[in-house]
Amino acid sequence: MNGNRTQTVAVLGGGPAGSTVATLLAEKGFKVGIFHTGKRPPLIVGESLLPAVIPMLRKLGVEEEVKSFSRHKPGATVTLSKDETITSYFSRAKGKLPDYAYNTPRDKFDETLLQRAKQAGCVVFPHTAGIVRLDDNRIGLDNQTLLKTDGFFEDGVDWIVDASGRSRVIARTEMIKTVEGDRKDWALFAHWDKVKIIDEGNIHVDYLERGWNWRIPLKDRVSLGVVINPTHLIAHGTTAEEQYDHYVRSDERLREFTEGGKRITPVVKFNNWQNINERFYGKNWVCIGDAAGFIDPVFSTGLYLSMKSAFRVADVIAAGGEESALAAYEQDWKWEVKIWRRVIDSWYNGRLFTLYRAGMAQSKNPVGKIIAPHVEMHLSRVFTGDAINGSGYSRGLHSFLTRFFLFGFDPADLTVK
Ligand SMILES: Cc1cc2nc3c(=O)[nH]c(=O)nc-3n(C[C@H](O)[C@H](O)[C@H](O)COP(=O)(O)OP(=O)(O)OC[C@H]3O[C@@H](n4cnc5c(N)ncnc54)[C@H](O)[C@@H]3O)c2cc1C
Repeated sequence: MNGNRTQTVAVLGGGPAGSTVATLLAEKGFKVGIFHTGKRPPLIVGESLLPAVIPMLRKLGVEEEVKSFSRHKPGATVTLSKDETITSYFSRAKGKLPDYAYNTPRDKFDETLLQRAKQAGCVVFPHTAGIVRLDDNRIGLDNQTLLKTDGFFEDGVDWIVDASGRSRVIARTEMIKTVEGDRKDWALFAHWDKVKIIDEGNIHVDYLERGWNWRIPLKDRVSLGVVINPTHLIAHGTTAEEQYDHYVRSDERLREFTEGGKRITPVVKFNNWQNINERFYGKNWVCIGDAAGFIDPVFSTGLYLSMKSAFRVADVIAAGGEESALAAYEQDWKWEVKIWRRVIDSWYNGRLFTLYRAGMAQSKNPVGKIIAPHVEMHLSRVFTGDAINGSGYSRGLHSFLTRFFLFGFDPADLTVK
């Protein structure tokens, strides 16, 4: 409450981060308006969840609904070379998290969370929000935006939460600097009626001659995405469709995966997806989800980080939005992302799965037989999201082993080109 009146929150964007923070704040007694146009690309990227998302879905009370349109995901399958495939099941992590996740069509997933926010009492304005800079590191909604809210914010806007995804509305207006990732890959993806899948329900991630790809089995289709340096892609055509189709046809492994299948949606293209704001908050505003920062998607961390930031920020605002609490949120987020980026780097520089190769070779000797299951358990925790939040032992082990435990195997063989 601000004096005697209920505090108001304007949430920019009704994606997973926005709907989540809105729901939680409405349930804590705030008056919440979400700006959400509903205009999105034909496909929304980010279809594979981590087990670390499940407890958040449960807290929001939407897991059963998400389950009804999603595919059960027991783990991940990685193809290193033509005859070398690794299957990692979340159950082997034996950690604190559920041993499954879901692959989910994002239009339905996002709609479920938005409906949940409405159910909690949030009002959705079907408009894009515009903002203005005010004095003293504060931000307000611009007049055009306010005019479309029918007096909802007539007593003022106490908090603005930027959940506008990669539009990064506040960061752009405030000219907040960003830290960019090293890689400048592009991702192109589409849905297929069928694509070869080795382990039912698992996300499949495959090394390619150039770049890598994902295969995400959904309920009635498969999402196939390729991630590749644009210099390789340009040779395949000019439009996203031409580039994607030609690339899929010309790569031996992709040709094999898609044999007998048909692309059933347009191709959607993404670039520039590694970007972290130098600053996450001001006097009356805070960024969450991709609007705060986003990292390479190879380990499906996006929705987990986005929803986690929404939970954290809802608590911070409800507790009064002290600057120290906002600073702690930003610091913790950046710390966690630093660890994820280390793991992601070990995918790109080849060390992570060279470690698996080395582990397989060592597992035949007596000491290796004892150590291998232990190592597998802790590395699986990295993929569930548990390692990052847990005691630190698993991530320490990952860091140590990928540096010192490769037994002569050359990571260059598995470097993503
Ligand atoms: C190639 C690629 C693959 C990925 N794969 C995965 C994956 O497998 N698993 C995973 O978990 N994550 C994945 N991600 C990341 C995931 O897509 C994002 O992290 C996630 O969607 C972020 O959620 P969000 O709510 O922060 O933003 P978004 O989902 O982008 O939602 C933001 C919303 O705000 C709206 N908006 C923008 N500007 C305004 C405005 N001015 N006013 C009102 N609304 C506005 C947008 O239209 C949008 O609806 C991937 C990302 C990429 C690029």
